[in-house]
Amino acid sequence: CVDEVSGTRTAAARAGDAPLLPVVGASTTVPLVDGTSRAYANLDCAASAPALESVNARVAEVLPLYASVHRGAGYLSQVSTALYEASRQAIAAFVGAREDDVAVITRNTTDSLNLLAGVVPPGGAVLVLDVEHHANLLPWVQHSGGAHTGTGRTATILPLEPTVAATLDALRGELARRPYALLTLTGASNVTGEALPLDRVVELAHAAGARVAVDGAQLVPHRGFSLADTDVDYVAFSGHKTYAPFGAGALVGRRDWLDTGTPYLAGGGAVRDVRTDRTVWQPAPARHEAGSPNVLGAIALAQACDTLAALPAGALEAHEQALRARLVAGLEGLDGVHVARIWPDSPDPVGVVTFTVGDLNPGLVAAYLSAEHGIGVRDGRFCAHPLLAHLGASHGAVRASVGVGTTREHVDRLVDALAALLRRGA
Ligand code: PLP
Repeated sequence: CVDEVSGTRTAAARAGDAPLLPVVGASTTVPLVDGTSRAYANLDCAASAPALESVNARVAEVLPLYASVHRGAGYLSQVSTALYEASRQAIAAFVGAREDDVAVITRNTTDSLNLLAGVVPPGGAVLVLDVEHHANLLPWVQHSGGAHTGTGRTATILPLEPTVAATLDALRGELARRPYALLTLTGASNVTGEALPLDRVVELAHAAGARVAVDGAQLVPHRGFSLADTDVDYVAFSGHKTYAPFGAGALVGRRDWLDTGTPYLAGGGAVRDVRTDRTVWQPAPARHEAGSPNVLGAIALAQACDTLAALPAGALEAHEQALRARLVAGLEGLDGVHVARIWPDSPDPVGVVTFTVGDLNPGLVAAYLSAEHGIGVRDGRFCAHPLLAHLGASHGAVRASVGVGTTREHVDRLVDALAALLRRGA
């Protein structure tokens, strides 16, 4: 917002001063240990982000129309089926799907990546860095093992290097060493918000004949992302991190593996014809969506996607970059607070920041922030044990993360509360 008289940016309109979008529960107050209560400062959006008000309204609107999809002939079944399929389109459009891509509605990112791991062609090798969330590490290990699983798939876990440039070199070397079917990597770390430059990774992988999958759990809700623009082959993400309720997510990408790979779940809806001696499976997406789907979850996620997509260009990034910068500067200004970094040269990290406070127990720091200040953060190893070991934080750390409902006031409260804690300890 530019001041019309002076043409300068007004102090009141700085990115991050106010929520970018209204979220539910923004005025929730929480009890403090001294018997008072305080407005909740939710700095745990990377775990699950509060739903958008627009999502709340949409759920209330469509709940009365709830009926079985794809199989019912009744009017409400037709409406629900149309809403479900329109949601699939909206979700695919939000991640810039190409015309022949397919969007499978899943439960969350973990579900999506497990599904993808099961459709990598037999014998295919998968390359992954040890920087990943367990959701983008364990499915590949689980689905590899050659003789053990009978698929002949293998998974190579490459240790990360301390800079982006060195990590790209290591990837280039490994991709040249043997053929890979797939390179899978995080779009933004759930620990530091950092990532490798996607364009460089895609170039390296495709030059070596490997496809690229992106764990978009922390990327898609916080940055514009497009499969078509990046040439990424698959992206996975979660509704509950994208300002929608729990229980719906998506895997979007190339059709061929999804059309022919092993159906993720066996059951009704995924099949075209069943005899006692043979089963004819549907192509994707139905092939991987056996059972009654989460229609309401898909509609809610689609609404969140539409609302985020309708933001003015750059607004989301400006809001979250401003908050991240303020958070990092505030934390680094405190004696004894250490902010973790995987790759200090990582371009444009998202608003996820992990830190330690001297040698204080991270669980106690998080409990103090909640009980005395009404601030919600996360502590622990963030489902990324190998990465935490790399960062020298095997005993855990504290993580603060922002979203469209976060303001500078939330960030400042966190920094002030930590300053008070450090003064107390001094
Ligand atoms: N990948 C990343 C980067 C994440 O941050 C998370 C959740 O924290 C996941 C995957 C798993 O997401 P979900 O629990 O929604 O499956």
